[in-house]
Amino acid sequence: MSSSPSKRAAPAVSEVRNFIDGEYRSSSGGKTFDNVNPCTGALNGKVHEATSEDVDAAVRAARAALYGPWGKMSDAERGEILHRVADGIDARFEEFLEAECADTGKPHGIASHIDIPRGAANFRVFADAVKNFATEAFQMATPDGKGAFNIAVRKPKGVIAVISPWNLPLLLMTWKVGPALACGNTVVVKPSEETPTTTSLLGEVMNEAGVPPGVFNVVNGFGADSAGAFLTEHKGVDAITFTGETRTGEIITRAAAKGLRDVSMECGGKNPALVFADCDLEKAIEGTLRSAFANCGQVCLGTERVYVERPIFDEFVARLAEEAGKFKLGLPQDADTDMGPLVSHEHQRKVLSYYQLAVEEGAQVVLGGGVPDMPPELAGGAWVQPTIWTGLADDARVNREEIFGPCCHVRPFDTEDEAIALANDTDYGLAAAIWTENTSRALRVSTAINCGIAWVNSWFLRDLRTAFGGAKESGMGREGGEHSLEFYTEMQNVCIKI
Ligand code: NAD
Repeated sequence: MSSSPSKRAAPAVSEVRNFIDGEYRSSSGGKTFDNVNPCTGALNGKVHEATSEDVDAAVRAARAALYGPWGKMSDAERGEILHRVADGIDARFEEFLEAECADTGKPHGIASHIDIPRGAANFRVFADAVKNFATEAFQMATPDGKGAFNIAVRKPKGVIAVISPWNLPLLLMTWKVGPALACGNTVVVKPSEETPTTTSLLGEVMNEAGVPPGVFNVVNGFGADSAGAFLTEHKGVDAITFTGETRTGEIITRAAAKGLRDVSMECGGKNPALVFADCDLEKAIEGTLRSAFANCGQVCLGTERVYVERPIFDEFVARLAEEAGKFKLGLPQDADTDMGPLVSHEHQRKVLSYYQLAVEEGAQVVLGGGVPDMPPELAGGAWVQPTIWTGLADDARVNREEIFGPCCHVRPFDTEDEAIALANDTDYGLAAAIWTENTSRALRVSTAINCGIAWVNSWFLRDLRTAFGGAKESGMGREGGEHSLEFYTEMQNVCIKI
């Protein structure tokens, strides 16, 4: 039997400290900020904000650990420890699940199938991948006829700053920390100020798994004039890996220019879905329901622009609205919850401002458009209705700017060329979804869209060996499989004259 929602919605207030050199440390400046539960508005706990001295201590600890036992281990030895980290996450699955859901408000159904298992998998996959990561060798002729050999070796890049967002906190942070550590680097992580708890908890797992002190460090805080800026501007950082908004990515890239530090940028999107009349309509509707509304629309790969071939436009819109209208909004722990709240009141204000703008820009509101009625114990949460619009101009701001909420605009098209042009009419280039049963069309259209990831008759189907990243303003570089290992290593060529 489940307990009452109000009881379960108010976890014990806890403190999240920084994790530096293998131990939890309070803010040296004595500063804390609130971690708020987005379902209720209640306080989850206090977070210790890292000062520049704390960040400096974390970077120094990471530097020292590079030259300690971690740097001397073989890939296989490090891999064994990283497998233990993954096992440690599995062993404390419930704790990670509760913490992730309390910070984000997302349903258990999502976090238990995606966030937490992927958090563990990111360590296993890269611990194994690094063992098979080849280098290169070239034999060359020389004027004396004896020749030379060129052998490339890969080395860790050094101290890596990891800046992560709030939408998939454990998953996206470990997506960087897993390969960085597998390659022998050390890391200082700055999780999102909205969702610090699972990153902090990982410190305990690292200690239990035998990761030496200083290899994994966590500093909490905000961006400008806080831990994010202190870390990315720190001279002791060798490379920066970032996932978040494009504008933040630009600021961090500027910080990285000083000292020519390498950057990996996974940024925003305004992703299209193209639904052709020859699609399997059931699949297309089910897929678009997920791509537009999963995680309350807070997925970088999510669909915000849906283009539907005219003969099936009316039916598609009606069916999508009918199904989205059935979503049950509620607490993470309730088995029938389809959608949680947005991550914060600040984000709720942003999303609602777009809901209002859509009306001002002339949209027809097919579904939602506001704040849902919630029971009294959830009234303080950051809830918004799933929302569908039609009728907006292609240059409407709602059609051009990333909203990052549970909403999409649906527009008809008449030809394949028009659909491709509409899909590409954006500053972003992260992902696209194409729904058609015609394989030739699927190949033609998917390759004509200027984006990093195109799905045909699916969405969010991820093989972790494949390239992941965005074109245009959606990012720089690729993660996944060998692409991650490439970023987290420095290649050195050794030329040996015979
Ligand atoms: P955000 O850019 O506001 O914050 C991301 C991180 O950067 C946070 O940890 C934040 O504290 C930090 N930060 C902010 N300003 C900084 C500064 N000046 N210096 C250093 N660090 C700073 O992004 P968000 O709101 O947390 O996440 C949502 C965004 O992330 C959306 O745009 C979404 O599309 C994007 N995203 C992209 C991907 C991808 O793989 N491409 C994945 C998930 C989310």
